[in-house]
Amino acid sequence: MPKDRSELPPVEELLTAAVTGLGGVERPGQVKMAQAVGDAIESEEHLAVQAGTGTGKSLAYLVPAIRHAAESGDAVVVSTATIALQRQLVDRDLPRLADALESLLPHRPEFAILKGRRNYLCRHKMAAGMPEDEDDQLFDPREVSATGRMVQRIQDWANETETGDRDEIVPGVSDQAWRQFSVTARECLGAQRCPSGADCFAELARERAGEADVVVTNHALLAIDAMEDFAVLPEHDVVVVDEAHELVDRVTSVVTGELSESTVSLAVRRAGRLIEQGVADRLQEAGEDLRALLAVAPPGRVDTLPQSLGMTLALVRDAAFACITALGPRNKDKDDPENAGLRKAAFTALDEVHDTAQRMLDAFGPAAGGDGAGDDEDMDSAGSPDSARSRDSASSGGANGGGTDARSEEVHRAEVVWLEEGRGRVPPTLRVAPLSVGGMLRDKLFGDRTVVLTSATLALGGTFDSLSRQWGLRTGEWTGLDVGSPFDHPRRGILYVATHLPQPGRDGLPEAYVDEIAELIEAAGGRTLGLFSSMRAAKAATEALRERLDVPLLCQGDDSTSQLVKQFAGDPATCLFGTLSLWQGVDVPGPSLTLVIIDRIPFPRPDDPLASARQRHVAATGGNGFMAVAATHAALLLAQGAGRLLRSMDDRGVVAVLDPRLATARYSGFLLNSLPPFWRTTDPAKVREALRRLTADA
Ligand code: SF4
Repeated sequence: MPKDRSELPPVEELLTAAVTGLGGVERPGQVKMAQAVGDAIESEEHLAVQAGTGTGKSLAYLVPAIRHAAESGDAVVVSTATIALQRQLVDRDLPRLADALESLLPHRPEFAILKGRRNYLCRHKMAAGMPEDEDDQLFDPREVSATGRMVQRIQDWANETETGDRDEIVPGVSDQAWRQFSVTARECLGAQRCPSGADCFAELARERAGEADVVVTNHALLAIDAMEDFAVLPEHDVVVVDEAHELVDRVTSVVTGELSESTVSLAVRRAGRLIEQGVADRLQEAGEDLRALLAVAPPGRVDTLPQSLGMTLALVRDAAFACITALGPRNKDKDDPENAGLRKAAFTALDEVHDTAQRMLDAFGPAAGGDGAGDDEDMDSAGSPDSARSRDSASSGGANGGGTDARSEEVHRAEVVWLEEGRGRVPPTLRVAPLSVGGMLRDKLFGDRTVVLTSATLALGGTFDSLSRQWGLRTGEWTGLDVGSPFDHPRRGILYVATHLPQPGRDGLPEAYVDEIAELIEAAGGRTLGLFSSMRAAKAATEALRERLDVPLLCQGDDSTSQLVKQFAGDPATCLFGTLSLWQGVDVPGPSLTLVIIDRIPFPRPDDPLASARQRHVAATGGNGFMAVAATHAALLLAQGAGRLLRSMDDRGVVAVLDPRLATARYSGFLLNSLPPFWRTTDPAKVREALRRLTADA
């Protein structure tokens, strides 16, 4: 074991030891990637690496990351989009890697997982120090008993848990039940002031992370750490973003604000216990006005602010501000420690309502914001994603403001507001999100650390340009590397585009598509993953084909997705149809998955408010909105969907795209260049023959 940091073996030697220790074989793409990651860390240059399935990319970044941590003494942060990958890293890859590398490093590599505060049990709230946020849903007797049972399970588990991590509870519990025992980062009192601070699970997790060489987290927490003024993650100078194709969407979710009657009533309930009734009633009334307005407003993007909505938003904002003022100074908790938790929770909910209403008004230009209390500079909004957003808009020259015509207005627009329809007990909700998070990422994430971004799908249309633009990176600020894939795509896979079929229409799945799917599945003997662009199409195909085919056909929603994938993997004759989560989340090596059917190019829906606004904005600023937004989105999903086919070196099969535009449209080259280099055909007879041969060999 080297005692000195200067004696550390090079990345290549550590990788060989890791691969040998894990019982694997050295792969050229993995070696190339590990060297590139090591070089990027050394030269402090951002790096984007596309590494196809089977490259072994987690070892290729973990080995140089661990070496850097040993050398510098600082942690390396690894961020993922999914819990599945977090678990794979923490439960499988990192423990084995630590065993394999221990003898070559000054100390055994330590690792830890760190999630957002709301994922940990809050001991203070558990001890009833804070409000429970019960709402009308609890008056439904079925909800009461279901939630009550979950609450009981959480209480039983709370007596035994050592980590307080929600993911330990199996089966999982609803958000509603969990909320009774958890707080957000903003609701937390802070360990110094909290009576349970010394035993706080979230604080213990942070402490463990502070001692680790590798800290595994998710994109949302990474974004919060980069954007807030206070540190959430331990000190670090290197970040590896795995599943980097998801980064922009996850960051957008973190900075999306929402306002509805529910968010307003939550603030009223919390404030109502602490302030004069009349002041809380004013906010309640503004919330009711908002409810009445949203109930009859058409869902979708709000391009110009209707006067009635502008007035209601201003009412909500001002009423929330009055409640905030009535709560008194924020720092009076030391005089009133008993109510510290209640006051913090009330401030958080009221700030959220006030800031979001103001942000929505700002999205339409300064005239819409009005004057009034919202402009008061005493508001404690420093460090919120809002303030990060404002700085981002300002730094990228995107300050809100009115132009003299629609195009100029569009160029200057920084945020988009839309109304989402109510569903079940979820009321209609107004949302606001930035048109681009690129400037924000550039300033906050890439600004003062080295970032390595990796995924199996980053080079869209054959280049990294589309995604690097979305990340806000400029030429010269980063390097791109495609280490390819160990799979022999042209020999092991066929890409079939059904050019003889009609273009998909708006009226559901065409009959000719159902016939084509039936013939393909018959030739494959089942073994099919059907990836549909909508749940409606997946259900229509399932219904039509269950009558026509002898093979078992599962549809997303019949059971939990993980159960369905298990059944699908366990029986080769079974087919599985579904939509979005299957496009990216299915990993089934072997003959159970021989055919992937994609019904249509997965463009965003034309009425998707954020995508359509982003597209229009790019066009207004002189770019090609369709290629930058819709085609990029489709290319990413198509590549992810097609990537479900080959999951191990022995896999073979067909990706069948029924939408003829993949071969005929003017943008088809961009999409085709985003896919693995399968052998291509448009001949249905050849494909069916190939599927029959594969089935006979299986
Ligand atoms: S420090 Fe925050 S999260 Fe921890 S117990 Fe106290 S209030 Fe809860």
